[in-house]
Amino acid sequence: MNENKPDGPAESTGAPSNFVRDIILDDLKTNKYGGRVHTRFPPEPNGYLHIGHAKSICLNFGLAAEFGGKTNLRFDDTNPEKEETEYVDSIMENVRWLGFQWEGKPLYASDYFDQLYEWAVQLINEGKAYVCDLTADEVRHYRGTLTEPGNESPYRDRSVGENLDLFERMRAGEFPDGSRTLRAKIDMAAKNLNLRDPVMYRILHAEHHRTGDKWCIYPMYDFAHGQSDSIERITHSICTLEFEDHRPLYDWYVEALGIYHPQQIEFDRLNLTYTLLSKRKLLQLVQNGNVRGWDDPRMPTLAGIKRRGYTPEAIRAFCGSIGVSKTNGSIELGLLEHHVREDLNRRALRVMAVLRPLKVVIDNYPEGQVEEMEAINNPEDASAGTRKVPFSRVLYIEQDDFREDPPKQYYRLSPGREVRLRYAYLVTCRSVVKNQRGEVVEIHCTYDPATKGGNTPDGRRVKSTIHWVSARHAVEAEVRLYETLFSNPDPNKVETGQDFTANLNPNSLEVLTECKLEPSLAAPAEGARYQFERLGYFSVDADSSPGKPVFNRTVALRDSWAKIEKRDKGK
Ligand code: ATP
Ligand code: MG
Repeated sequence: MNENKPDGPAESTGAPSNFVRDIILDDLKTNKYGGRVHTRFPPEPNGYLHIGHAKSICLNFGLAAEFGGKTNLRFDDTNPEKEETEYVDSIMENVRWLGFQWEGKPLYASDYFDQLYEWAVQLINEGKAYVCDLTADEVRHYRGTLTEPGNESPYRDRSVGENLDLFERMRAGEFPDGSRTLRAKIDMAAKNLNLRDPVMYRILHAEHHRTGDKWCIYPMYDFAHGQSDSIERITHSICTLEFEDHRPLYDWYVEALGIYHPQQIEFDRLNLTYTLLSKRKLLQLVQNGNVRGWDDPRMPTLAGIKRRGYTPEAIRAFCGSIGVSKTNGSIELGLLEHHVREDLNRRALRVMAVLRPLKVVIDNYPEGQVEEMEAINNPEDASAGTRKVPFSRVLYIEQDDFREDPPKQYYRLSPGREVRLRYAYLVTCRSVVKNQRGEVVEIHCTYDPATKGGNTPDGRRVKSTIHWVSARHAVEAEVRLYETLFSNPDPNKVETGQDFTANLNPNSLEVLTECKLEPSLAAPAEGARYQFERLGYFSVDADSSPGKPVFNRTVALRDSWAKIEKRDKGK
């Protein structure tokens, strides 16, 4: 029993309660595992981790941490054809970035290949496994269906001696790929198809990223997973719901082998609107060139959302908020963005940046004069202090902050209208300059010198405050704006004959190249995150070069989630 937390850690830790946690609490109470909590996160290194994996990581590491336990990182590397060291490295980096540290060294199912082989031999010796010569198609055919029992393989009753000989020769490389398998002898009439003599080993003359060409037979996931858990003395083997039907087989193997028996527990996969969470499909996007790579900021990979500017704190808060259940559902992408905004609101420094510049000349402001205006770095954090922002006669404002014919309720700049320039002065638009196409390319204003800092000594009111950047001092930058990668909330929903790529959003990336930033942003650190006032949160991309920063829009300011919440509350 964990003496620090006999009862009711729910109250003491503030961790969200869920059914997996309740199971652990019960096991601690009954001393089922001697007070131990030992979980594992078992990724297959066949792609980059995504936000769905983050849910599993937070659950596994979070629960172990809460109860003073341990979490292993174990690569499920039983499929040599699709696995690569690049993926192993990125997975370790991502888990650390999320803020978790696994117990000891990273582990690999391939570390156990010798032991698994011995266990297979044990099952053959006990008449619980046999070598089968049916082809993959035949095996499928013999398996039967959900409504009909399967048929026994004609090779099912081979003698132990013959099975041992054939299995040894499979291992020695005597037979071609696919010609034979080792199968568990369970029950071809079992209701659960996974128990109809499942394949334990297949022949695959493929180089493995860790074991090289030592093996030409590889264990199936089901024959490797539970035993790996057992070897590592995992207490709670937490996985997603699609493995629920595999649990009887998981249990059968550890029982048949008579080894330590961890408890498999299944929970719901994370699905997010407008987002695909399948490594196979994400790989397809990378290979097709639909995105710039696994770390494209539009990707739901941890590498992608990190590059986009999401914080590990926001992702952990999101994962803590979505709950853990026994039914698959779909979470609104807006909830993830809500957590990103919440976190960045607390920590991001505010700066002024103009993304689509419109030139403003303040006709009565002395040419050559520069004033340093004092600006607040973060209204949420007084310790972030203030900075000086230069103001001069020629400025840039957002094109959106001016309308020649203002619609009703448009209170920003328009001819004859006065607005406040943030931290500076009140200005009034006096005239505009147009190009040959009749577009406004420059506006002329006058300023009121008595309004420095944005105050009005006479108490007159202006309805709008807009941001600006001094033209002489501006840093030019590239800013990449992102929309969802898919335009359908369910990217898998397509017409017959199409695949999910039909739902790709053609406007998911917009690149603005002549953005004007205040001079404090001349040389920002890679990964640094800012709030561009009135626009959103932006982070410095790795493509930045000296004097030419590149920013990713992490998330716009508008909080669609708050609106959704309000709407739903009103129901
Ligand atoms: P994918 O379908 O993206 O390939 P996977 O389940 O094959 O995912 P693994 O590398 O096998 O990926 O997953 C490692 C762990 O992460 C497993 O325990 C799996 O259940 C969990 N996991 C994967 N996707 C999700 C998800 N969307 N939500 C929660 N957990 C997930
Ligand atoms: Mg998998």
